[in-house]
Amino acid sequence: MAALKACVVEAAAIPGGQCETLYPRKRMYGVPGFQDIVARDYISVLANQCLPHATATLFGQRVNRVSRIGAREFKIDTDQESVVSRFLILAIGIGDTVLCVPENILINIDNTSDFIQHYCSSVNLFAGKRVVIAGGGDSAIDFAIELLMIAKQVILVHRRSEFSCEPSKLRIVNELAEAENISLKLDYDILELEESAIRRCVRIRRKKDINIEEITIDHVIFCYGFSVKPPLICGLEEMGIQTNDFPVKVNIETMETLINGCYAIGDAITYPGKKKNVVPCLFEADRAVRAIRDKVVRS
Ligand SMILES: Cc1cc2nc3c(=O)[nH]c(=O)nc-3n(C[C@H](O)[C@H](O)[C@H](O)COP(=O)(O)OP(=O)(O)OC[C@H]3O[C@@H](n4cnc5c(N)ncnc54)[C@H](O)[C@@H]3O)c2cc1C
Repeated sequence: MAALKACVVEAAAIPGGQCETLYPRKRMYGVPGFQDIVARDYISVLANQCLPHATATLFGQRVNRVSRIGAREFKIDTDQESVVSRFLILAIGIGDTVLCVPENILINIDNTSDFIQHYCSSVNLFAGKRVVIAGGGDSAIDFAIELLMIAKQVILVHRRSEFSCEPSKLRIVNELAEAENISLKLDYDILELEESAIRRCVRIRRKKDINIEEITIDHVIFCYGFSVKPPLICGLEEMGIQTNDFPVKVNIETMETLINGCYAIGDAITYPGKKKNVVPCLFEADRAVRAIRDKVVRS
C-alpha cells in the first residue's frame, strides 16, 4: 500500500513467529475483529493478506550478518543468499526460545510418556482428560479457559497466592472457580509426578502445610514460560546495536533505531508503555513503513 518493494526474510520455514512455534492452537486474545480464532488461523489470515504484496519471501533463511554498502544501503546476508536494501526493518522478536522445565519436582515417569505437556501442545490431546495446569501467568489462564469445554477436569496449580494475568482474565477465572468449573490450588507447590502402568498422579502441598495431596490426572501442562537467547545478527554491533541492547530502543514516532535507515518493531523493541502483544506490533509496522515512505518521498 505504501508503494515500496519489500523482501521478507524469515528463519522458520513458515510465517508466524511465536504464534506458530509457541502456541499455534491457543485462542488469540486482543486481536480486534476476531472473536474466536486460534493463533495458527490468525497467522494464516495475516499472511494471506500481506504476503502476496511482498516482492520476495525468503522463508527458511536465517539472517546471519547485516552490513552497510556505502552510506545508503544495507547488505543482508542470509545463510543462503544476500539481499541489498535501502532500508531494514528488524522484526526478530525475542530471540530463540526454549521452554522452561520445572525444577525441584521429583519426576518418576518414562521418557517417552506424554504425561508432561507445555502450553504449545495441541488442545485435542486433552479431550475428556483430567488435567493439571501449572503456572499463574496469562498462558496458564488462557490454557485453562481453552480446555474447559474439552477436558474432563481442569485444576490450576500456582505456587503464589495470586495470578499474574490480565484483570479481565482474572475475573473470568474467579467466576469459573466459583461455578466449580475449574479447581484453583493457589499457594501450592508441585512436589512429584508419578506414572505407573495403571495410573498417573501429581502430589502437591500447600505452602507451610505438612499434608501432601495426591490427585489422579492424565496430564500436567507446565506454563512456566520460556528462556530466551537474545537475537543475534552479526554486524549490528559494528553499526551501533549491541546484543545486550535487546530489546532495542527506538524513536517512537518513526520506529527508527540508532542506525540510520534501520527500523525495529514488535517484541524486539522497547519504549515507554510498550506491550508485547500482536496489535502493538502491527501499529509499529505501520509506523515504520510510513516513516520509510516519507523518507523515500523526500529524497
Ligand atoms: C504463550 C504466549 C501467548 C500469547 N498470546 C497472545 C495473545 O493471545 N494475543 C496477543 O496479542 N499476543 C499474544 N502473545 C504475544 C505475541 O505472540 C507476540 O507479541 C508477537 O508474536 C511478537 O511478534 P514479533 O513479530 O515481534 O516476534 P516473534 O513472534 O517472536 O517473531 C520473530 C520472528 O523473527 C524470526 N527471526 C529471528 N531472528 C531471525 C534471523 N536472524 N533471521 C531470520 N529470522 C529471524 C523468528 O524466526 C520469528 O519467526 C503471546 C505470547 C506467548 C509467548
